[in-house]
Amino acid sequence: MTSEKSGQDARTRAAAMIRLAGIGLTDDEAARIEVTGLGLGHREIEGIQIATMVSTERLAFKAIALFAGQTMPEHRHPAVGDDPGKEETIRVLSGECRLYVPGEDTLSAGRIPAGKEDVYTARDETVMRPGEQLTLSPGTWHWFQPGDEGTVVLSISTTARDALDEFTDPAVVR
Ligand code: ZN
Repeated sequence: MTSEKSGQDARTRAAAMIRLAGIGLTDDEAARIEVTGLGLGHREIEGIQIATMVSTERLAFKAIALFAGQTMPEHRHPAVGDDPGKEETIRVLSGECRLYVPGEDTLSAGRIPAGKEDVYTARDETVMRPGEQLTLSPGTWHWFQPGDEGTVVLSISTTARDALDEFTDPAVVR
């Protein structure tokens, strides 16, 4: 299977998950779902599917689908000029989402991708189910992963500038 084909499969699967979670997507929006392995070469382990519904100079509203076994690597949204950086609320629509921020190491439900212990430094775990949410202050390191059934979460935020996101893992290409 070519990566283009598997990317299309992931896009179709993500669109179905997002729609099942109650978010209507036009076919155009579904076709534009971003599927990325962040340049790490194993999208099923570290990767993400993102449907962008709103992205203006002031705010962004996205639905993120994570398949079972996938992890969104540790990152933060840096300050740009007078803007302190993206404030982001992660709200769960379906499945379970384990979210990690800096603090006491309480990691127990989740697991760090094999061999990546040094680039997953935030270990304060919050396990969230549908309807639960957490707001990340600008500049807060975070990473997240689903439970066994995958998850769909909303990312509700101030301005998104994905290309500027900083990742702990220097191998990431955004
Ligand atoms: Zn983020």
